Amino acid sequence: MKYVGAHVSASGGVENAPLNAAELGATAFAFFTKNQRRWEAKPLTEESIGAFKDNCRRLGFSPQQILPHDSYLINLGHPEQEALAKSRAAFLDELQRCQQLGLSLLNFHPGSHLNKISIDDCLARIAESINIALAQTKGITAVIENTAGQGSNLGYRFEHLAAIIDRVEDKSRVGVCLDTCHTFVAGYDLRTAASCEQVFAEFERIVGFDYLRAMHLNGSKAEFASKKDRHHSLLDGHLGVAVFEFIMQDERFNDIPMVLETIDSSIWRDEIAMLKRWQHREASVDQ
Ligand SMILES: [Zn+2]
Ligand SMILES: [Zn+2]
Repeated sequence: MKYVGAHVSASGGVENAPLNAAELGATAFAFFTKNQRRWEAKPLTEESIGAFKDNCRRLGFSPQQILPHDSYLINLGHPEQEALAKSRAAFLDELQRCQQLGLSLLNFHPGSHLNKISIDDCLARIAESINIALAQTKGITAVIENTAGQGSNLGYRFEHLAAIIDRVEDKSRVGVCLDTCHTFVAGYDLRTAASCEQVFAEFERIVGFDYLRAMHLNGSKAEFASKKDRHHSLLDGHLGVAVFEFIMQDERFNDIPMVLETIDSSIWRDEIAMLKRWQHREASVDQ
């Protein structure tokens, strides 16, 4: 099965996220379990947790179709001890919230070295952060997102993802989320079926599809290899649609949540319908 949806609003309570997703005709969704720009959050209430689970059950969203995303403030590879400890505590809280909601995945950005430590040291810190958090939780897989490589963010090379996974003790609870925009601006060309074939073969060789737990489906406003993280709608920008047709027709992308973080939420419903249609479409001429 292909599960497609969008990163929907959970404003008014996490229980609203599945409702918002269902309105889009989605079969997957992403959301924040707390305000993504704040450190502090009120604990989830029993009512909210119960309503979330009821809504998911009623609307047909199982945990494997749901991709919560953690706070943007968290840096699991922070060069400074105090800030690293703060990030690790916040990450644990995020995992615990997912556990309370009966979910199985948590999507996060690996971390940034802030030009103060080496790439390798930063990757080791990120892995250690994951180990610490997994040891204190059950049933949630830590899903590392590949990044655009903007600033000092790591995770823009498949090798970074592999290096983190390599150091994670419980390999059954670590995975990756590939963002099409990030992959493209990081320097992996996805503009034709042939280039997609090559890039995903490289991904298979370096990381492995066994670790692929989710996708972010985004167009790109920024140019190829620009390392700029600027999402666009699927039909707009520099990426083109070949990659989305490729993904929708390739079985290696089955049974994982694939969510839009495209910039115009008013057309999400159409974009989701279009993706579903592309499962059955003949390859376009430009491929
Ligand atoms: Zn993303
Ligand atoms: Zn992005």
